[in-house]
Amino acid sequence: MMAAVTAGRRGRNVILLEHERFCGKKLRITGKGRCNVCNNCDVKTFLQNVPVNPKFLYSALNRFTPADTMEFFESIGVPLKTERGNRVFPISDNAHDVAKALETAMRGAGVRILHENALGIRTDSDAVTGVEYGGGVIECASVLIATGGVSYPLTGSTGDGLRFARQLCHTVTPLSPSLVPLTSDDPDCAEMQGFSLRNVRLTLLDRDGKTRYTELGEMMFTHFGVTGPLVLSASAHMHDAAAPYELEIDLKPGLDEKKLDARILRDFETYRNRDFSNALHDLAGRAMIPVLIRRSGIPPETKVNTITRAQRSRLVTVFKRFRIPLSGTRPIEEAIITSGGVAVSEIDPRSMESKRIRGLFFAGEILDVDAYTGGFNLQIAWSTGKLAGEHL
Ligand SMILES: Cc1cc2nc3c(=O)[nH]c(=O)nc-3n(C[C@H](O)[C@H](O)[C@H](O)COP(=O)(O)OP(=O)(O)OC[C@H]3O[C@@H](n4cnc5c(N)ncnc54)[C@H](O)[C@@H]3O)c2cc1C
Repeated sequence: MMAAVTAGRRGRNVILLEHERFCGKKLRITGKGRCNVCNNCDVKTFLQNVPVNPKFLYSALNRFTPADTMEFFESIGVPLKTERGNRVFPISDNAHDVAKALETAMRGAGVRILHENALGIRTDSDAVTGVEYGGGVIECASVLIATGGVSYPLTGSTGDGLRFARQLCHTVTPLSPSLVPLTSDDPDCAEMQGFSLRNVRLTLLDRDGKTRYTELGEMMFTHFGVTGPLVLSASAHMHDAAAPYELEIDLKPGLDEKKLDARILRDFETYRNRDFSNALHDLAGRAMIPVLIRRSGIPPETKVNTITRAQRSRLVTVFKRFRIPLSGTRPIEEAIITSGGVAVSEIDPRSMESKRIRGLFFAGEILDVDAYTGGFNLQIAWSTGKLAGEHL
């Protein structure tokens, strides 16, 4: 859509093929329906949030920066606001407003929208000649494939463009889920399903015990394992070779072990005549208490005033280093983004044009670039789409 607006405004004759009944189906569910349009940061910070192939994006991001994105959306009637973590949202908190404004901008730029399924790309030796769809063939000299990845296929991102790319002899790097919930066989997760943790530190450890990711924030236990913002971000740092992975949660990141021990001691003074099982509710949520007790190895019926220093020290460790072994990720269909895609070495980063086939362009999530949460993935779509639109 960004590319279509850009090319249309240049006076190009643009047809957009969209096989869903309306445009931007995925866009409309982004940011929990609020659409985290972009991240209000400079290009350097932006590229630090792109773990895969950031250099490829250098030209596109400099040509169309997050500031340009904000100016663009304001100019097409979507007033924006910046929230925590520099995340930018429409003031209306409604992702539909972003999609609708893009549709209006496309029509204003003379773009024709056909709700049809693109079936293949026609080429003649090494140049594009047209696009096949249910109604026949559209003859053209430039084609942009911006069909997204393969996650959330019900939004229309079914991976067709990746198939076209392969047919056109482009390399598609292996696809894997990223920004995806994580699975664990540890029955403690299922026992605590639905229970959320706020203000905790999550650390992802690889098989050598090396820290791959660590951050403060929120997460949640589920029947299959864990999810929530921290978990999704951690998943972007999982590269199979370093599996099996483990999560370590610091349930009290604001207190070091000594301070936490003092805090526990204070609670134990207050509840000195209770059983251990009834003495933790000031420190932990109800759903978590039986699990913490079990992991501490202190019998639940122990009188609080008989708990030893060594037992308390084990409890501190459980709070500070709550371990969850991981078995993997949820399937790619449930991932926020697809990692992998059309190999960027075969695309000119200054135009998004294929180095193999003249007139063939790629933009957005179909490319082998992906970023963390925070509006970075949509920015990749806006910047690469803009650049392609300028060269179509
Ligand atoms: C639940 C969820 C929340 C997200 N939230 C955010 C967020 O807040 N901020 C952020 O930056 N990123 C977010 N993302 C990621 C972001 O949505 C994607 O990276 C972005 O939409 C990619 O844009 P795209 O145009 O490349 O692909 P898509 O948005 O997937 O669009 C591709 C389009 O091509 C169409 N298409 C595919 N094949 C064909 C065909 N053969 N013929 C015709 N049309 C076809 C599809 O129907 C679709 O409309 C989120 C993703 C998900 C799943």
